[in-house]
Amino acid sequence: MSRTMLAAVFEGRGKLALKKMPVPKIEKPDDVLLKVEAASICGTDVHILHVPPGHPATPGAILGHEYVGEVLEVGSSCGGFKPGDKVAVDPNVTCGHCPACQLGRHNMCREMTTLGIFIHGGFAPYNVAPARQLHRYDRRLKPEIAVFAEPLACVVNAFKKLNLFPGEGVVVLGAGPIGQYFIQIAKAGGAGKIVAVEPNPRRRRFAKISGAEIVIDPTKKNLPESVAKVFPSGPEVVIDAVGSLADQAVGIAGRAGRIMLFGQNALARASIAQNIITRNELTVMGSYIAKHTFPEAIRLLETGKVNVKPLITHRLKLTEIRKGLRAMEKGQAIKAIVFP
Ligand SMILES: [Zn+2]
Ligand SMILES: [Zn+2]
Repeated sequence: MSRTMLAAVFEGRGKLALKKMPVPKIEKPDDVLLKVEAASICGTDVHILHVPPGHPATPGAILGHEYVGEVLEVGSSCGGFKPGDKVAVDPNVTCGHCPACQLGRHNMCREMTTLGIFIHGGFAPYNVAPARQLHRYDRRLKPEIAVFAEPLACVVNAFKKLNLFPGEGVVVLGAGPIGQYFIQIAKAGGAGKIVAVEPNPRRRRFAKISGAEIVIDPTKKNLPESVAKVFPSGPEVVIDAVGSLADQAVGIAGRAGRIMLFGQNALARASIAQNIITRNELTVMGSYIAKHTFPEAIRLLETGKVNVKPLITHRLKLTEIRKGLRAMEKGQAIKAIVFP
């Protein structure tokens, strides 16, 4: 194995460099060396590379936090992983000893760091990750499908909080990748009618493939009126997959409905008619990243309960990564996957 590799490195303020980096080595007993088989571009990567940045990252870090690979080498204490295992990586490395971790709320860890954002990730042929971040998957699953485990695990965490009952009506605001997973998981979970709200026509088409019965273009239609046509007493569940639509969600939810604010936009400020929440007994929830939900996400992929294949719009070499980032930024891509 050569000792250098080509990697996509964050170089600060909107700069991504494709450059030679040393192939990582096992240093700690629980380190695992992976051959990266697929890494997908996330909206967060686009935010990191924005000027001004919409998400922090460490200059010098190899990006790519959604990735899967094959185990090549293991440290002396690595939880039973062996060369040849196919694994999905949970990129959020938590401390294990802060109050949040000790309460089982690892996603609330204050010492958290992230592979592919603050430390080296998967936009490179090789990566070293701690064994406890790895989740084995069935080797019959293609890497380009298994790579959906990370974003799906985040959606599973949110979806479980919603306690969807079969037949309930669901409105998903935003049909980017995250919105698509919500539509699919709601469908698999027994939702009644699913409505997707999305201005981009291409994404609306994908929303139909994912399982939305009705799609609404909010730039052409009055949203509350259109939703009321489908759900005369309002939907039981509304999901904001964008991160700035809390006011719209409150405006369309049915009485005693549940609202999930999932999308992230640190700059968004909502002006909400809060009496609607009180008067209609709405439950408004947030959900952040994955929380012990990788095994469930992998199972959804292995059983085909969610079908992510149609969502792959770009398959790229590492040297073509900028093409994928541009397509994501312009909303031309649902999921762009890099094969390093
Ligand atoms: Zn991501
Ligand atoms: Zn912690």
